[in-house]
Amino acid sequence: MAGKLIVFSAPSGAGKSTLIRYLLEQDLNLAFSISATSRAPRGTERHGVEYFFLSAEEFRQRIANGEFLEYEEVYPDRFYGTLKAQVEKQLAEGQNVIFDVDVVGGCRIKEYYGERALSVFVQPPSVEELRRRLTGRGTDKPEVIEDRIAKAEYELGFAPRFDVVIVNDDLQQAQQEALRVVKDFLEKP
Ligand code: ADP
Ligand code: 5GP
Repeated sequence: MAGKLIVFSAPSGAGKSTLIRYLLEQDLNLAFSISATSRAPRGTERHGVEYFFLSAEEFRQRIANGEFLEYEEVYPDRFYGTLKAQVEKQLAEGQNVIFDVDVVGGCRIKEYYGERALSVFVQPPSVEELRRRLTGRGTDKPEVIEDRIAKAEYELGFAPRFDVVIVNDDLQQAQQEALRVVKDFLEKP
C-alpha cells in the first residue's frame, strides 16, 4: 500500500526537528523527506542524508525542468525545495514520508496531496522563547537569529491553515501529542 504524508511546519526554532526526530524513533514506518537546498552543509550534515546540497545554478536548472513539488528562495540564491521524484519514490515503496518544511511549503504540499497528507503546525509558546531556543541551539549567528525572529511573526499567522496545531511548550507533552495525532492519521483507512 502506498504511504501517506505528514508535514511539519513552524517558525525556525519552534521544535520541528526535535519532534520529527522523536517520531522517527517510533514504530510508525516513517521516512524523512530529504529536501534539496543551495545553502552550505552545517556541521556533520551530509549530502543525501539531511539534504541534497545543490549549487544555486543547479537548483535553478531543476526548477526550470519542473522537478520540484514546491520550492522557496528564502534569501537571494538560498533555495529550499522538495523534489517530486524523491517523494514519489518513497511513497511508492510504502513508506510514510515526514516533511520539515517552511509554512508556505507545508501549505503547498497539503494542497497537492489533500486527504493523503496531514499538516501539522508547531507553535512556540512565545516569540521570546523562540529567541531563547535559537540562541541555545547555537547553530546561527546573532544576525541570522534576528532575521528568523522577524520572519516568525508572519509565519505564526499561517497556523489556522494547518490540520493540527501543536504548542511545543513542555517537550514531553508535545511529543505525546504529536505521536497521538500522527498515529490516528496513519491508522485511518
Ligand atoms: P526547528 O527544527 O523548528 O528549527 P529545533 O527542533 O532545532 O527547531 O529546536 C530549537 C531548539 O530548541 C533546539 O536546541 C531544541 O533542543 C530546543 N527545544 C525544542 N523543543 C523544546 C521545548 N519544548 N522546550 C525547550 N527547548 C526545546
Ligand atoms: P535550515 O537551513 O535550518 O536547515 O532550514 C531552514 C528552513 O528551511 C526550515 O524552516 C525548514 O523547514 C525549511 N525547509 C527545509 N526544506 C524545505 C523544503 O524542501 N521546502 C521548503 N519550502 N522549506 C524547507
